[in-house]
Amino acid sequence: MIIPANPNAQYQSYKKDIDSALKKVISSGRYILGEEVREFEKEFAEFNETKFSIAVGSGTEALHICLTACGIGSNDEVITVAHTAVATASAISLSGATPRFVDIEDDSFSIDASKIESLINKKTKAIIPVHIYGNPVDMKMIMKIAKKHNLFVIEDCAQAHGAYFESKRVGSFGHMSCFSFYPTKNLGAIGDGGAIITNSKTFAKECNLIREYGWRKRYISESRGWNSRLDEIQASILRIKLKNLDKDNNKRRSIAEIYNNDLSNFNSDIVTPSERDKCKHVYHLYVIKTSKRNELKDHLERNEVITTIQYPVPIHLQPFYKNIKLNKNLFNTETVAKKILSLPIYPELKKSKVKEVIKCIKNFYTT
Ligand SMILES: *Cc1c(COP(=O)(O)O)cnc(C)c1O
Repeated sequence: MIIPANPNAQYQSYKKDIDSALKKVISSGRYILGEEVREFEKEFAEFNETKFSIAVGSGTEALHICLTACGIGSNDEVITVAHTAVATASAISLSGATPRFVDIEDDSFSIDASKIESLINKKTKAIIPVHIYGNPVDMKMIMKIAKKHNLFVIEDCAQAHGAYFESKRVGSFGHMSCFSFYPTKNLGAIGDGGAIITNSKTFAKECNLIREYGWRKRYISESRGWNSRLDEIQASILRIKLKNLDKDNNKRRSIAEIYNNDLSNFNSDIVTPSERDKCKHVYHLYVIKTSKRNELKDHLERNEVITTIQYPVPIHLQPFYKNIKLNKNLFNTETVAKKILSLPIYPELKKSKVKEVIKCIKNFYTT
């Protein structure tokens, strides 16, 4: 059986290092916000070429903390997309603000920057662009619009660790940026985890306070805050994987290249993913579009190739979010959701297996 993602294979490939890091942490007796987290934060900021990094409990909490640090709450609106993990919108709702969904581009699957301005009004406080599937959003355009309208930009990099928009890593453009270390992400923990990066000392301080009850000094809350800490065990694992992230992303890119070579000119019913010029896509997911999505998915499953759909129902059509009065018709978002299929991709996936997936897809169209 070929599965879509495989965190266990990743553990196996770094098993020796991970096992010894675990042992070290467990016998140290320090399990929360210690040396490993401090070192990871330093290394993660360096990796992204930003000044600060704050490790937190999850990607959702990273977003919620950033929105809170910006002072965003009820009566505010935040612009994002409906074609993303629901976490992007749930963080906005948790902050008390209302998500305003803008349509996506049909080829990049990400925010259509040309449609942002029509949603901006007095209540608009921020834009959350999502580098969906590992494909960088056009950050030049986003920052230009944000500057013109005096809006915060919080990048959702939960699927794009290590990706480049032109010569800089994603996450280094916005006021603050958020990452998830959910096990299947390009940089994945063995449990939950997340991080914020920023170049702003003020925001870094704010996020640090919010992450732990508003404490600057232990037991003395200076501001609002809750508990969203990364633990030492996860930090020690992330440090090992971070050292290998560029290499692992390049493996994902090689797999994408095999799919591209074999599928992009095979049948007009299959549309392979596009890459933005001069950028580095890191293929958290390899997503094709086909009008026969459901049939193809079933065919692959019968042949022991498991695929997934990210995401089957756009957020503005989900029960909790569909009542937002301001939701608009999102044509590309709704059309794309019916056609997308995520093919198996992870750094340890063997080329021979990728070829098997391709063969199986070709069989579907030729028999
Ligand atoms: C995974 C993900 C999140 C949420 O991360 P968690 O760590 O699961 O809370 C947010 N946004 C996007 C785009 C994601 O893929």
